[in-house]
Amino acid sequence: MAKIFCVANQKGGVGKTTTTVNLAAGLAKVGQRVLVVDLDPQGNATMGSGIDKRQLELSVYDVLLESSSVAEAKQHSEKAGYDVLGANRELAGAEVELVSQERRERRLKTALSAVKDDYDFVLIDCPPSLSMLTLNGLCCAHGVVVPMQCEYFALEGLSDLVNTIKQVHANLNPDLQIIGLLRVMFDPRITLQNQVSDQLKAHFGDKVFDSVIPRNVRLAEAPSYGLPGVVFDPSSKGAQAFVEFAREMVRRVGSM
Ligand code: ADP
Ligand code: MG
Repeated sequence: MAKIFCVANQKGGVGKTTTTVNLAAGLAKVGQRVLVVDLDPQGNATMGSGIDKRQLELSVYDVLLESSSVAEAKQHSEKAGYDVLGANRELAGAEVELVSQERRERRLKTALSAVKDDYDFVLIDCPPSLSMLTLNGLCCAHGVVVPMQCEYFALEGLSDLVNTIKQVHANLNPDLQIIGLLRVMFDPRITLQNQVSDQLKAHFGDKVFDSVIPRNVRLAEAPSYGLPGVVFDPSSKGAQAFVEFAREMVRRVGSM
């Protein structure tokens, strides 16, 4: 049965999408069956997996509005090595359209339960907000992966996310937990980053993943080729870090 993870952080530009597509590609590389769900109307995870968001006939939008199943709407990315339930600008409208509907925060959960035996991992790329879309992701997840840069304000933003996760855990999804904090875009030469990294470990202990993702230009270049960095340049430091992170995820899930 698939383990479902949200990649979430309400800040933009912190590395959610990069983490989603590269963790997915890393998991595929070590033999896992993976579905990526793009819950961001920007559609970056869709494009970064080699699926053209402008040419989606069906998307996660149709799934949330119950006019399509996941099996119908998903596509396989041959290059990336996993399946993608894509998103584009249309998804921005779902927020408003769902307001008047029943079980609105459980739409994705219901839809994913039909494919739970088809995958080992489902990774959900969340938008940079704590919105109805993110709530749909949190409602169906077993865990949240929180990518974060080791910067001065990183811990401050984290408390809003932690509170939201606690509320969802209490009211909507008792399975939900933070599986881990992932340090991304890390530069060990910067003293402040090392200090924040130490603070993170002091506060959150083994909730901080052992794997650290370095700042690496190949990871930033890969999306313009429609590929995860792990596939674009497997020998790069960034790609190797994500494959190592995928192995760590497999180990953590084994002990969940
Ligand atoms: P989010 O999804 O949280 O908005 P992205 O994953 O899109 O964040 O990352 C924001 C920007 O930072 C992108 O341009 C991406 O290519 C770049 N980026 C992300 N991770 C790394 C990294 N480890 N090294 C270098 N650039 C990165
Ligand atoms: Mg993103």
